[in-house]
Amino acid sequence: MSNIKQMIIDGQRVAAKTGRTYALHNPANGTLLAQISDGDGDDVEVAIASAHKALGIWSKIPAKQRGILMKKAEHLLQERAVDIARLITLENGKPFEEAQQEVLFSSGYLSWFAEEGRRAYGDWIPSPYPHKRLLTLVKPVGVVAAITPWNFPANMITRKIAPAIAAGCTVVLKPADTTPLTALALGEIFIEAGIPAGVFNIVTAKDPAPISEAFFRYPEIVRMITFTGSVRVGKLLAQKAAERVMRVDLELGGNAPVIVYDDADFEKAVDNVLAIKFLRVGGESCICANRIYVQASIYDKFIAAFSKKVQQLKVGDGFMSGAQIGPLITQVALQRVAALVDETKQRGGCIVTGGHVLTSVPYQQGNFYTPTVIADCQDDWPIAQQEIFGPVACFYKFSNIEEVLARANHSVYGLAAYVFSQDMAKIIRSIESLEYGFIGVNDGQGYTHEIPVGGLKESGIGREGGKQGLWSYLEVQSAVINLE
Ligand code: NAD
Repeated sequence: MSNIKQMIIDGQRVAAKTGRTYALHNPANGTLLAQISDGDGDDVEVAIASAHKALGIWSKIPAKQRGILMKKAEHLLQERAVDIARLITLENGKPFEEAQQEVLFSSGYLSWFAEEGRRAYGDWIPSPYPHKRLLTLVKPVGVVAAITPWNFPANMITRKIAPAIAAGCTVVLKPADTTPLTALALGEIFIEAGIPAGVFNIVTAKDPAPISEAFFRYPEIVRMITFTGSVRVGKLLAQKAAERVMRVDLELGGNAPVIVYDDADFEKAVDNVLAIKFLRVGGESCICANRIYVQASIYDKFIAAFSKKVQQLKVGDGFMSGAQIGPLITQVALQRVAALVDETKQRGGCIVTGGHVLTSVPYQQGNFYTPTVIADCQDDWPIAQQEIFGPVACFYKFSNIEEVLARANHSVYGLAAYVFSQDMAKIIRSIESLEYGFIGVNDGQGYTHEIPVGGLKESGIGREGGKQGLWSYLEVQSAVINLE
């Protein structure tokens, strides 16, 4: 079959050593998109050797020069935004316009970290001894293993790779099995930009387990694992990394509370909460609204206005004109969301709109679920404690600030939270109390390159973006120089 997508190792397109491939399907209609090289541990070993060899070259290139190549990659990514967005819509299903925004946003990490890479300062430290000098220098961690999810197939990659290579590290990436095409297109761009062979290697695979096992096989070479995905897998990787005292960066799941106080700008709050819940991969996002707490005096009115807008959302193939919500990533994901909603209904959740799988034409071959609103949910129900990861908005009523902040914090997750209010004191009290790594106030747009994002509690360890994002990939070395 000619449509076989090969991996990128040592600057070359290569097939899996076994010759195996797996089929990649479009989640909107089930059509076959491509056969993907199905790598395993042997392929990872070659990629690690290439990254190790490249480390010796790349880490010695001045950060300014590395940054010039990274900015070339940024420009190429921007030039190809439409083509790469098309791949994202094909393999992930998200609306084409949203995919284009993702590609452009993902390119921004390249220039941000190209510039931050030049600011990895060491220190000349005042010495307590007249005859000794003390200094620190900053070095790349080494070869980095990266594992990324499917929901932002471009952005989750550049948010890791850009700081890693800006710091002078080299990388072996395993992208999600459902979105390899975007990853491989990014890999091509890095090669074209002149980033040396072996700096960014990509091993695709259907089964992730042998890949991560190989990542842990050479702890003296692979010094860090950076992972974005579920808490379950993050814990598995952290355990293995701990045995080898390997550095970890974990960007894991979330259960974002949204708090709408009764003094919020009503219309803006409705529109923003709608965007936070539905207009980012149709609710398959780690920072999207999972529990929407609305103050009692505006609760019914808010749900009515919100539900009216939800009923107008356009669901369909991401290439359909005006599409706002695409399919879920797989049948398994679709059935999980359907089961969670059914369970919530049985417990007494009130389905205001939606609540079923879409099976009629033109949805019958894809993984589509109706945008759903459920009122009167309770904090101890599974839907309040798990990530919904689908187009389902759940509402909870509250009466005062102390109560809602305690309820919002009652979660093992601590990734993102949102607050809507026009009262500055209430806003500040909320920010200070909420145990979440990222807080949006009267804002539904999410984060930007300049700020660090990451989770508290089980949502993760480490930060991506901002100036902190670079330091995940740097080691500090100290020297004491005796002048006598
Ligand atoms: P997942 O953990 O199942 O998979 C994520 C990646 O890990 C994929 O590449 C997958 O192939 C790989 N993987 C799965 N099992 C593995 C194993 N045993 N060993 C090594 N790798 C393995 O998660 P998912 O369903 O693909 O992604 C959704 C999850 O990601 C959600 O929990 C979401 O909240 C989280 N997420 C977090 C952030 C963040 O910034 N914190 C961003 C996006 C997604």
